[in-house]
Parts: sequence; C-alpha cells; structure tokens
Amino acid sequence: MTITASGPIDLTDKFLGPGRKPPVHWMDLTPGQRIEAVAELGLPRFRAKQISTQWFSRLSNDPSSWTDLPVAVREQVADALFPTLLGVAQEQVADGGATTKIAWRALDGAIIESVIMRYPDRITICISSEAGCGMDCPFCATGQGGLQRNLSTAEIVWQVYEADRRLAAGEIAGGPGRISNVLFMGMGEPMANYKAVMAAVRQMHDPAPDGLGIGARGITVSTVGMVPRMRQLVAQDLPFTLAVSLHAPDDELRDEIIPLNKHFNVDAVLDAAWEYAAATKRRVTIQYILIKDVNDQTWRADLLARRLKARGDWGWFHVNLIPLNPTPGSKWTASRPADEQAFREHLERAGVPVSIRVARGREIDGACGQLASNLDASRGSRRGTVNPAR
Ligand code: SF4
Repeated sequence: MTITASGPIDLTDKFLGPGRKPPVHWMDLTPGQRIEAVAELGLPRFRAKQISTQWFSRLSNDPSSWTDLPVAVREQVADALFPTLLGVAQEQVADGGATTKIAWRALDGAIIESVIMRYPDRITICISSEAGCGMDCPFCATGQGGLQRNLSTAEIVWQVYEADRRLAAGEIAGGPGRISNVLFMGMGEPMANYKAVMAAVRQMHDPAPDGLGIGARGITVSTVGMVPRMRQLVAQDLPFTLAVSLHAPDDELRDEIIPLNKHFNVDAVLDAAWEYAAATKRRVTIQYILIKDVNDQTWRADLLARRLKARGDWGWFHVNLIPLNPTPGSKWTASRPADEQAFREHLERAGVPVSIRVARGREIDGACGQLASNLDASRGSRRGTVNPAR
C-alpha cells in the first residue's frame, strides 16, 4: 500500500468556509446554459463548443493552455467558469496498483471519496453523491458521521473527470487507461440528491464535447430504497443500471439496519424495483451486504428468493452479495466464508441469478466513508466535517 498525503491540487488557501455553496462550474451547466454563459461574458456563442472540446474531448483542465482562445479570453473564462472544486486530500493505492482510493477536500472543507478499481476488461470508479449521508445505516462509516451537504453536479462529475484525465495521462497507479464504468456507491444516498445526480449522469453519458461519453449501461445508480425517487427514475430517458441496497428480506431486520425501511418497507422497495425493471427492460441489481450472524442465515436467502420470485420473471433481478468491510471498532463484521457460500447456494438452488463481489482495497480503509472518517478523525472535526480553521 502506498499513501500520498497531498495530491496535485492544493486548495488550502481557497477555502470558502463550512457550509458555503460551491461556485458554479462549467460542469454544472447544460450545453444550452454553457452557450448562455459565454454570451454573458460577451463572447460569441461558438466559444462554448471550443471550450467544451478542450475540457471534455481533450481532457485539458488548464484554460491557460487553450491556444484556440485568445489569452485574455482564457483568463476571463477560467475565472468565471472553471473554479477548482475538489483537491486531493489523500490518495491510497492497494491490490498491486489495481485499486486507488482518493479522498477529496471540497472548498468548504468537506471530505468525500472515490475509489478507482481496475479489472481485466474495464476501469470502474465508485463515486460519492453527498458529503456524509443522512440515512444513518448503523453498519456504515458514512452513516455514522451524518449528512453534511449534497454535492453539486460539478462536484459529482469532477470525481469522474479528474480520474479519467489523470488515468489518460498515466498519473494513476497501474498505467494509462480510461474510465469505463461509474458506480454511485460511495458516500451518500444518490436519490436524496436526485436533481444533481441525474444531471451528473446525463453529463457523464453525453458524448464529447458535451460530456464524457461513458455508456449509460456502464453507469450504476444505487439506492437504499427511496421509493418515490425510484418511481421518478422511470421517466428519465437514460438506460443506466439501478441497484437497490436491500441487505435484508424481512422488515423486522431491515428496519434495524436500514432505518429508511420504516418509511418504505421491503415490499414497497421491491415493487418499485420491479416497476423500474418492467418499464425500462433493464435488470435491477439487488445488493446484499453479508453481515455475520445478522442477515446471513440461509432462511433469509430462501425468503429473499421467494420475495423476488413473487414479482415475476427472475431475469429482471440479479443479487450481488457483498462481504461487509467492517469499520474499526464496529460490532458488525463480515460473514464466515461457509455462511457466505451457503447463502449463495440457497439462492442459486432457487434459481436466482447471484454473484459475490470481490472485495477490493481492504488494506486501504475500503468500506464506504472509512477513509473520509479517518481523515476527519485525524483533524479533530465533528460529524464528518473538516473545520478548515483548525
Ligand atoms: S449505507 Fe449508503 S445509504 Fe446507508 S448510511 Fe451508508 S452511504 Fe448512506
């Protein structure tokens, strides 16, 4: 494991103060709004396309090097529309360079994190949608810190853009590459920041020069079950993958490990997932973190199979079993391998498509929110907020 204490961008002299909204960035704007933004600067409309081509197509993040723009215009555009939003607070590399975890510090001092994972056929980034999280799941490091604030569209896309840019330039451990897959499974509940997340997904998917051109099927948005938002997703004209973090097939246990279940129970969540699958013809992933002696009994595998089957064709659901990556000092820990296997076999026997996620980055605080909470703890901050004055 290697750790870089500070990354290439240092924001320490630019802090806005806790709770301040980030300034507007090019990546907050739609293609139409970008044209309006350059017009407001007194520039001709065609400049918007030139700028987007530099930013998205060439992955050039330094406006001073955009030689197709006059020097004065470069400065004007940089000042107005390209503020630096996130700096690297810490970077950790594990799995022989196959996993890189980045903790970012925002302009208000909030810490968020992303994880880049290399596989033989793809490079995936797991990103955050909020600083902290208000869902309060007791097994989760992020949940234990509470919600600080929603991220802006540009802060969400920034995580992917910067990873993609640095990968293309060979600046990330493991050699040059490009991001092919995005998972909204870092800090935060994406459906609780719905508008910004949908705008970010659209921008990641839009072909260059308007966006990063990542295939929608390579983008997965997860939720612990915000049913009204799941229903809204059907109307989005974007065929991304929906992942539902179920973690228990019965309300008694799910009420305990996913507090939101008291508002939207297992039946309501599975009904909404089924409606999404039926409407979009896209398979929904059911995520199930295996926690030792909590939710890993085979009778729960059987119950999960029955509840999925009750909604029709198996083909619309795929269960992804995830060994819990425990946080330090937590009473929750990963299932025994034998229990994990038995759980899987019961699902398979019932005909449920199932896989077990390979654990990544266990040596680098791999659980969601863990790196950020460690950084916070080291700075003596409370509820996951870094106080820049310290
Ligand atoms: S598991 Fe997800 S939804 Fe629950 S507290 Fe953690 S980040 Fe939030």
